[in-house]
Amino acid sequence: MSDTPVLGVSFDHVSLLRLDQTGGLAPGNKAFKLRHYFFEAKRLGAARLISFGGPWSNHLHALAAMGCQLGVETVGIVRGELREENSAMLSDARRWGMHIVYVSREDYRQRNEAAYQQKFIERFAPSVLIPEGGASRAGARGCMAVADIIRRKAPLARHIVVPVGTGTTMAGLVAGLDESFEIDGISALKGAHDLTQRVKALLPRSARNSRAHWRILHDYHCGGFARVNVLLREFMLAFETIHGVELDPVYTGKMLLAIHQLRACGVWHEGASVLAIHTGGLQGRRGYSWLG
Ligand SMILES: *Cc1c(COP(=O)(O)O)cnc(C)c1O
Repeated sequence: MSDTPVLGVSFDHVSLLRLDQTGGLAPGNKAFKLRHYFFEAKRLGAARLISFGGPWSNHLHALAAMGCQLGVETVGIVRGELREENSAMLSDARRWGMHIVYVSREDYRQRNEAAYQQKFIERFAPSVLIPEGGASRAGARGCMAVADIIRRKAPLARHIVVPVGTGTTMAGLVAGLDESFEIDGISALKGAHDLTQRVKALLPRSARNSRAHWRILHDYHCGGFARVNVLLREFMLAFETIHGVELDPVYTGKMLLAIHQLRACGVWHEGASVLAIHTGGLQGRRGYSWLG
């Protein structure tokens, strides 16, 4: 993974940690979650890495890119049997050599079941299977490197905001930062009230006693996962025009809208500094025509 310096763009006391500008073809948080699996494949002599995702998955996109660059074969198990979703994401992944297996929505529901996973592990042996979204303790351990970047690049930052999908990146931050930090995770999902439990379960064992202050906010999903409402659309377009920073509608747009709203209504003090993690996801913009 490339170690490009991370620029902090600053406006109105909000700084952006630009993970979207790191990682080359696999920008954002995904490379942090995945790198352990590439070491593991090497260590075990496994030829292939397998994982799951939808037709616009940032996770599969990053896996395919890293596999191509590091010389490891990749297999993407993709939701949607009708192949209607011939997305730009899937074109990239195929171009980078990822073998795509389409499964029905029904079959896809079994993605976290051991017996279902075993079928793919054997079919593509010798292989290592990565849970959907890289949601694992190993993935969270990889994200502890983001905490190191924060300490190096933004040593004064104490209030960190990060978008949350599986909670793996959040778990890495909680594990890597101490009690002098406050970490707010903005859930991209509607009503995922088990996320607090999930983040706890993802904490690397060595970090079980982390004392960072953290919580997950559930009111900024804008209609649900990958859904967009008028408010989000207008906010993102205005934000990009004013600040010249591209966002994705699934995660980073909702996070910045949350920050904007919490400050505008006085829940968060407008003059207090916030460090927001730009986790990438910009390839997914191609799925939203209004983003041009
Ligand atoms: C996957 C992703 C997230 C969510 O990360 P988790 O570790 O699953 O919580 C956030 N932002 C972007 C851009 C992503 O692609």
